[in-house]
Amino acid sequence: MKAHDGMYIGGEWRPARGRDTITVVNPADERVVGQVPAGGAGDVDDAVRAARAALPGWAAPPPAERAARIAALRDVLAARQDEIAETVTAELGSPLPFSRSVHAALPVAVAGSYAELAASHTFEETLGNSTVLHEPVGVVGAITPWNYPLHQIVAKVAPALAAGCAVVLKPAEDTPLTAQLFAEAVHEAGLPAGVFNLVTGLGPVAGQALAEHEGVDLVSFTGSTAVGARIGAVASAAVKRVALELGGKSANVILPGADLARAVHVGVANVMANSGQTCSAWTRMLVDAERYEEAVALAATALAKYVPGERIGPVVSAKQRARVRGYIEKGVEEGARLVVGGPEAPMERGYYVSPTLFADVTPDMTIAQEEIFGPVLCVLRYEDVEDALRIANGTVYGLAGAVWAADDAEAVAFARRMDTGQVDINGGRFNPLAPFGGYKRSGVGRELGPHGLAEYLQTKSLQL
Ligand code: NAD
Repeated sequence: MKAHDGMYIGGEWRPARGRDTITVVNPADERVVGQVPAGGAGDVDDAVRAARAALPGWAAPPPAERAARIAALRDVLAARQDEIAETVTAELGSPLPFSRSVHAALPVAVAGSYAELAASHTFEETLGNSTVLHEPVGVVGAITPWNYPLHQIVAKVAPALAAGCAVVLKPAEDTPLTAQLFAEAVHEAGLPAGVFNLVTGLGPVAGQALAEHEGVDLVSFTGSTAVGARIGAVASAAVKRVALELGGKSANVILPGADLARAVHVGVANVMANSGQTCSAWTRMLVDAERYEEAVALAATALAKYVPGERIGPVVSAKQRARVRGYIEKGVEEGARLVVGGPEAPMERGYYVSPTLFADVTPDMTIAQEEIFGPVLCVLRYEDVEDALRIANGTVYGLAGAVWAADDAEAVAFARRMDTGQVDINGGRFNPLAPFGGYKRSGVGRELGPHGLAEYLQTKSLQL
């Protein structure tokens, strides 16, 4: 695995200012796969200056020119998909087929959508005697997590570039190699120097320096609610724009009359994808009392197919494994029924967690309230539809969810009453243009599609 020993700043790889490094480990076998520099405030400052210098030249030309560059970036990402998939697998541990079909393919679709939106978006409109200009916010500080390493980067960088912003990225310390590959792609696509800059480093050091930097106009953060709240506080103290994509505890509501087998099957696949490390995962399955045991049995059968090391990979780190196991132990302690899996390690090497199914989970239990971020599914029983709604809405989060019913209209009626940012109806297909983001403590702002682009724009009105 190729690792750069510098930062990508101002269109070139430059030595880091300090000597600290981050060692990257493959979570599937615990082998070292690379080493990257751990940047500090000085590197962040260099990167922000490079971004600011590049801003006028990137923001001023017609949007069609930006669209052409983003299309070139999409093409490079498409051409390098195999390498991207291998890199994600090496540092995240996800099985290669999943890395290919999701980690490498999704960013191509998202970058493509922003190449089109940059060309078609209305950056200027007339409202009565006013001309309203939608102008770039300026320099964006992007801070991303490890769970979908490239998607999280592209979901911020592509709309920021489409808007005419310049970016400094601080990627997650667990997955910096994918970020370096992205910087190579930016370079190869011929983006002007300084429009995109990369500083690898630790969250409380490089991440914090970026969030606090006075040359940053907007901080776009994806990660835990705890860190997001701190970043929000830092940004608001400086009256900076902030976008936060945080945690979730999404409900998969199976209404009476829904196709139970399909709803359970898709629901299990949704939670097991990426070893449960998906912020929008439907980790709480809600089933009516009458069909409850049938659903648990179906879920147990579906879950058993996720064999660690084959169909399901490890979690990202030893720390994450300890956290997930802690939640499994807590579930047992609080009286949930362990149906499949448990806290014991399924493999000798690697940060694997057994796919785990809990039944008889009640809404007040810790495992029904807190985000576990591992391959753990909780099945909850509801008495009637109002009870299902109360349970679905009964957490501090509101990122995503699913509703299954005998017909779409019934499911939509239920979904309208859910306090959450995105709901899939009867297994609705993923749409890269649909706004994604949280209600309640799941975040502030939206990513993807035109709503994601709007986050990076500010409006000016000219009265004639
Ligand atoms: P994290 O909050 O620890 O880290 C996320 C990023 O923030 C990393 O780049 C990290 O280096 C940086 N960071 C950490 N401390 C910082 C600080 N003090 N100042 C500035 N930056 C700092 O989260 P994680 O463990 O990487 O990711 C898992 C969490 O992210 C989960 O809770 C998950 O739900 C959430 N997540 C949310 C979404 C979403 O779109 N809503 C997507 C993926 C992950």
